[in-house]
Amino acid sequence: APALPRPAEPRIITIANQKGGVGKTTSTVNLASALALRGLGVLVIDMDPQGNASTALGVDHREGTPSSYELLMWEYAVEDLIQKSPHADHLFCIPATIDLAGSEIELVGLDYRERRLAEVLNKDDLASLGIDYVFIDCPPSLGLLTVNAMVAASEVLIPIQCEYYALEGVGQLLRNVELIQQHLNPDLAISTIMLTMYDGRTKLAEQVAGEVRRHFGDRVLKTVIPRSVKVSEAPGFGMTILQYDAGSRGALAYLDAAKELNTRSGLSFGNEAEPHEST
Ligand code: ADP
Ligand code: MG
Repeated sequence: APALPRPAEPRIITIANQKGGVGKTTSTVNLASALALRGLGVLVIDMDPQGNASTALGVDHREGTPSSYELLMWEYAVEDLIQKSPHADHLFCIPATIDLAGSEIELVGLDYRERRLAEVLNKDDLASLGIDYVFIDCPPSLGLLTVNAMVAASEVLIPIQCEYYALEGVGQLLRNVELIQQHLNPDLAISTIMLTMYDGRTKLAEQVAGEVRRHFGDRVLKTVIPRSVKVSEAPGFGMTILQYDAGSRGALAYLDAAKELNTRSGLSFGNEAEPHEST
């Protein structure tokens, strides 16, 4: 497939939903892999102590490996922590190790606790490293790790599982994004909603997808990720679906989604928050 056009400047996208198991990590690693396979420079920052994104990208994240924890603690710079994923040229990861597990509490006592990541992630440096996309994979909570990811990003991507209770908790997530826009990062926008684990055989999946589209309009990617056993098998082999079975429905869906995401570079989605009064 031909290379995709590069965005004008690096896009920093946080993948968030405090609900677990909705496809945050799967979407992170597959979008990242798809964009890298189409010629773009991509960095995944694993901010979930579970380290599932690091596993799927095939990078070392044993205890003691310099990781996103050291990044938050300002012990190492981005370029010193980046590991190359074996899955694609220009695919990189700052892994998460078990060290990150205590950091939600550790961060509370630090200066700039909400901006630790933002301070060390800047677009000029990323551009000079050849990085077009940064995806930050969040843990299933709205704690300080997720706050750091949202303050460091310009976009939030919310995966929504086409299942019962799909929208449960999304209201709370939106209110949190609004608070971050008002107090910490006025440039943040919810740019993308992605429907995951879609089972076309069920009426329910169709209903959920319709409800999400009515609510979020054109922020919702047209591409829907199907539920597929192969997608869930890939991480067990240290792979994404794009390495595990490149011709499968799941792989093709993620390639389409990545292309669609890239087409939307530079679109303006407007902020949820009221504009700040400049007095
Ligand atoms: P999160 O990061 O939000 O907790 P994951 O990406 O880890 O969610 O996905 C939760 C589980 O669902 C994992 O076991 C994953 O392999 C599986 N999964 C994710 N996407 C799909 C899909 N499209 N089809 C089938 N299983 C999926
Ligand atoms: Mg996850």
